[in-house]
Amino acid sequence: MSAEVINGKDLAQEIRDELKIEITELKKQNITPHLTVIIVGDDPASHSYVKGKKKASAEVGMSSEIIELPKETTEKTLLEKIEELNNDSSVHGILVQLPLPEQINEQHVIETINPAKDVDGFHPISVGKMMLGENTFLPCTPFGIITMLKSRNIEIAGKHAVVLGRSNIVGKPVGQLLLNESATVTYCHSKTKDLKKYTTDSDILIVAIGKEHVINADDIKEGAVVIDVGVNRTDAGTLTGDVDFESAKEKASYITPVPKGVGPMTITMLLKNTVKAAKQIGK
Ligand code: NAP
Repeated sequence: MSAEVINGKDLAQEIRDELKIEITELKKQNITPHLTVIIVGDDPASHSYVKGKKKASAEVGMSSEIIELPKETTEKTLLEKIEELNNDSSVHGILVQLPLPEQINEQHVIETINPAKDVDGFHPISVGKMMLGENTFLPCTPFGIITMLKSRNIEIAGKHAVVLGRSNIVGKPVGQLLLNESATVTYCHSKTKDLKKYTTDSDILIVAIGKEHVINADDIKEGAVVIDVGVNRTDAGTLTGDVDFESAKEKASYITPVPKGVGPMTITMLLKNTVKAAKQIGK
């Protein structure tokens, strides 16, 4: 059996086309969704992610602004900037690109963003609401993963979902969203003993570790749904996932590739959250 590949790029494009229509309608009410991204320092990967966000915003007709701050920026200066944006009614979504330089406490920054503009879904209020199953901004990567599963009508309720990785931005929230959908969820991490025992019992396997090809066909159950979140740069300079796609696709029922998998969905969910914020905040 060869798995059906869930192409995140194509699905992301479909969702972006829908967003374009929604944005056109909002503009008729004089509302142009606006995303402000703050980046501190000169990390090339972060700059490239931020550029991607700006480009994607423009493509769907949203406006966006990138605020670039030097790497020696103090926490106080950054928090004041966020407060300014919190009080600016023309700004609907605020995103601070992570990671931040070491003199800045990431959690202080996240908690300063107005939850009504928290389009990354990292504020404790957003996280708490997600946990309670209330309407909120869902963190973009987990939101993208659930959207991918739903796009293929993959049954989640009653399934054993195994999440590899427990970061605040991917592992923990994706497990919570799967639980909200009535999956039986197991979290695994670097201290898990006998990882294979869990992965081979998994109906839905989410791999978010950040290590090239740690999972291959031997680690998965026949017919499993495999979502590869990992992004790793190979020695040849190309991108690859945490899953050995070629072997795993022969055993899985559905699988996501890297690139063109979860990545394009993440940015799309950011656009979707910003449109949602604009609708809630209004002009
Ligand atoms: P992270 O914060 O580094 O977390 C990695 C997690 O993997 C940790 O919980 C760690 O366990 C666990 N882990 C490490 N080695 C392991 C092993 N051998 N077996 C089991 N678990 C292990 O990473 P992240 O931010 O969640 O990102 C994970 C990957 O997804 C990265 O490649 C990142 O680039 C990618 N990513 C992609 C997108 C996208 O849009 N496509 C978005 C975000 C992240 P401990 O907690 O015990 O240390």
